[in-house]
Amino acid sequence: MKKIQMVDLKTQYEAIKTDIDSAIQEVIDSTAFIKGPKVAEFQENLQNFLGVKHVIPVGNGTEAIQIALMALGLKPGDEVITPTFTFIATAEVVALLGLKPIVVDVEWDTMNISVESIKKAITPRTKAIVPVHLFGQCANMEEIMKIAKEHNLYVVEDACQSINSTYTFSDGRTIQSGCIGDIGCTSFFPSKNLGCYGDGGAIFTNNDDLAQKMQQIANHGMKIRYHHDLVGVNSRLDSIQAAILNEKLKHLEQYTTNRQLAAKKYDEAFADNKHIITPYNDPKTKHVYHQYTIKLVDIDRDHLREQLAEKGIPAMIYYPIPLHLQKAYQDPRYKQGDFPTAEKLAQCVLSLPMHTELDQEQINYITASINELTK
Ligand SMILES: *Cc1c(COP(=O)(O)O)cnc(C)c1O
Repeated sequence: MKKIQMVDLKTQYEAIKTDIDSAIQEVIDSTAFIKGPKVAEFQENLQNFLGVKHVIPVGNGTEAIQIALMALGLKPGDEVITPTFTFIATAEVVALLGLKPIVVDVEWDTMNISVESIKKAITPRTKAIVPVHLFGQCANMEEIMKIAKEHNLYVVEDACQSINSTYTFSDGRTIQSGCIGDIGCTSFFPSKNLGCYGDGGAIFTNNDDLAQKMQQIANHGMKIRYHHDLVGVNSRLDSIQAAILNEKLKHLEQYTTNRQLAAKKYDEAFADNKHIITPYNDPKTKHVYHQYTIKLVDIDRDHLREQLAEKGIPAMIYYPIPLHLQKAYQDPRYKQGDFPTAEKLAQCVLSLPMHTELDQEQINYITASINELTK
């Protein structure tokens, strides 16, 4: 059996090595390393794939969120609502920009931002909601868009884990994740569902004004060279990464299918295990399984992880500490116990190996081992 990894980038690369190598070589031969034709090509390919008007390639997912928030013209102290159970990036850029991160609880089933908690957190200073489509399925966008409209708030989707996921509204519209709110952000970090071979990210929007502004912010705030009308940053996707992404985008649908098939096999194998709650799949959204995250019931998680490690099975805890309990984000308004669902999830979640190359033998071995160890 092939060695089991959380993510197997090597096997994935080997399957498309010829195309990737020649795409990289082409960039080197052209020496158009920055803002070359490969970047423009990828921009267009991704726009077409997602059905969105503007894609702005940037340096990474965190900068994508930062640039998005910079473009909204918010003032210091303005409040931005985001879930407490997630990766740190969102709250981090909110804080860096002098805005006020307002964290809220998540839903037990989907592990995504709780609509009821958003409603309770809105104040006259609230300016934006940043839902995170955690682990690969969309947050409750129908309700979030409704709340945003009602209170005149911006919605910036963190789609770093959910590229190629979709959300279907009750009127029948199906939209790609990241293309639903005012702005969407994604990351091409190597282990993401569409990953490059270094850092990369992109911003999506259907709004021409915001697109123009974000393009400008990402490029030192200039539209005309050396005329800086806005305070900007330097954030760009380099040509080699764009060339790699052009090749990998061709396989994204297949990669998603592979992940979904692996998830289905896990689901089936754990169906009768009373100690494991398999991922809830909201029928309104296409789950692209960035992670396959189970909830353990009455199981010593650390002990199980150790036992799995001895058997050569990696398993990770995403995420062990909610944002409101992180040292850097201590806030007198928040204390332990304020967001019970997030706190409970942080105690019981476990993410199993999930990638595009998992084979039947590996899945059988992982599931049989876990079922045996949790008997
Ligand atoms: C990966 C990730 C980010 C940050 O992306 P980088 O490219 O690493 O900066 C932000 N939010 C979420 C939810 C992520 O998973």
